[in-house]
Amino acid sequence: MNDKLQQEKSLLLVSRHHKSEDTIINIKQAVIGGSSHMLIAGPCSIESRDQLLTVASALKKAGLTVLRGGAFKPRTSPYDFQGLGEEGLKIMKDVADEIGMVTVSEIMSPAQIDTAARYIDIFQIGARNMHNFDLLKAVGQTQKPILLKRGLSATLKEFMLAAEYILHQGNNRVMLIERGIRTFEQATRNTLDISAVPILKQETHLPVLVDVSHSTGRKDILLPCAKAVLAAGADGIMVEVHPNPPAALSDAKQQVNIDEFYAFWKGLCDSGLYH
Ligand code: PEP
Ligand code: MN
Repeated sequence: MNDKLQQEKSLLLVSRHHKSEDTIINIKQAVIGGSSHMLIAGPCSIESRDQLLTVASALKKAGLTVLRGGAFKPRTSPYDFQGLGEEGLKIMKDVADEIGMVTVSEIMSPAQIDTAARYIDIFQIGARNMHNFDLLKAVGQTQKPILLKRGLSATLKEFMLAAEYILHQGNNRVMLIERGIRTFEQATRNTLDISAVPILKQETHLPVLVDVSHSTGRKDILLPCAKAVLAAGADGIMVEVHPNPPAALSDAKQQVNIDEFYAFWKGLCDSGLYH
């Protein structure tokens, strides 16, 4: 079948038409998709070994398996903290190996793939790079699972087609993550598109997660938003956790501290929606 026809017939590789059963992604001891929910947490940026180890140990105590943390940071201003780069990834591997966790971190260009592959388990493609087709093709040629974020103003069709780029190259271990979209609303950093969850679950076979930190930008509503997306069928949640959020080098306002994380996690467990 030619490529054009493939698209028109809804026979995209990401579609339920192509594969009816849910894709379940196993990464070491972590399982994403299927019958249990995945809670991914960690700081916005990796800032030091101490910082990451403090957070990771707290998450491990709550039974979490996947640690997030940015080393290559896509910042709006060139004057903002750009991340520790390879040094940050080294810290991440060191901490994750010490306590036994799976790691996810963002890469922003094909040139970072080989370096990042040595240190982390999952490549995150950030919202700002969802349309970076060279990057999508390049990660599609790797064996690493990919956590693909929805673009700032991307439609669900565009989001699914971005994932299609990765599968088309032969890598079918892709997870989709809704992280809020740009609207006129000012009360939240972005607008959490809850309807994206059931639509993506219906249209694709890929695991669907929701980043409640970036989609809301405010920690006071993380729990109700997390419950809402679980009720809507999400396979997992991402949340940013920092030992001392006011001093964080990025996203200071939206990160929760460790006590707040435990309260959030307990709230999820008590809700009966998280299992
Ligand atoms: C992040 O997860 O650190 C991040 C930068 O998110 P997004 O690409 O969704 O803005
Ligand atoms: Mn962040």
